[in-house]
Amino acid sequence: MIDCGDGVARQMMAAGVFRTLRHVFITHHHSDHNADYGTLLLLAWGDDLKTPVDTWGPPPLSRMTKLFLEMSAADLAVREKDEGRPPLRPLVRPHEIRRGGAVMKDDLVTVTCALVNHPLVPIALAYRFDCPDRSIVFSGDTAPSDNLVALAKGADVLVHEALYVPAAPGAPGSALRKHIMDSHTSVEDAGRIATRAGVKTLVLSHFVPAENPPVSDEQWLEGARAHFSGRIVVGRDLMEL
Ligand SMILES: [Zn+2]
Ligand SMILES: [Zn+2]
Repeated sequence: MIDCGDGVARQMMAAGVFRTLRHVFITHHHSDHNADYGTLLLLAWGDDLKTPVDTWGPPPLSRMTKLFLEMSAADLAVREKDEGRPPLRPLVRPHEIRRGGAVMKDDLVTVTCALVNHPLVPIALAYRFDCPDRSIVFSGDTAPSDNLVALAKGADVLVHEALYVPAAPGAPGSALRKHIMDSHTSVEDAGRIATRAGVKTLVLSHFVPAENPPVSDEQWLEGARAHFSGRIVVGRDLMEL
């Protein structure tokens, strides 16, 4: 699982992959990326999770994990007795990441990460997953990032955030508009980054604006297509690639 925004547990259930939870990778601590971190673990456990889950992300991930388990202690204690579940606490193993480089490796996947640029978040990460059949990179939230280009070199799939500048939130010249422009990537630049990295497929994701005002798939595609000649996908919930 990469990031845990609002509703992620429900969507995992809908996708039929809830019971396969093994690792959680958090790109950065904004609520649209971590709000359901604890809920995901709690609901997976309630759905019969009995095996360890390693979680990865910037500090204070360990403290967040500890505090969430503490907050849920009353429920956990009752369920352990009532429903005969193994204690959740020892199953969750947080790992804090402060710099780019190797993250973890097992038989199925090698994971690496890079620091990206998402002010004012102190540590924001992009992740790369090299699997036997293909390599996939997630940008997380970032302004155009050379570190990300390096991380994504030659990947099969780059999932990149995208901002539609003509409909960017906040009035022109406002602090909100400046923050959005400084910390995100226009859909045109997402196309440029995909070209520089030499990826095969660009998946646009994390749309700003999300819905209001609406931006059509064609408008998203057009922005990236001007700068990237590979396959471009407008990423949507529950999509399989
Ligand atoms: Zn963010
Ligand atoms: Zn975000």
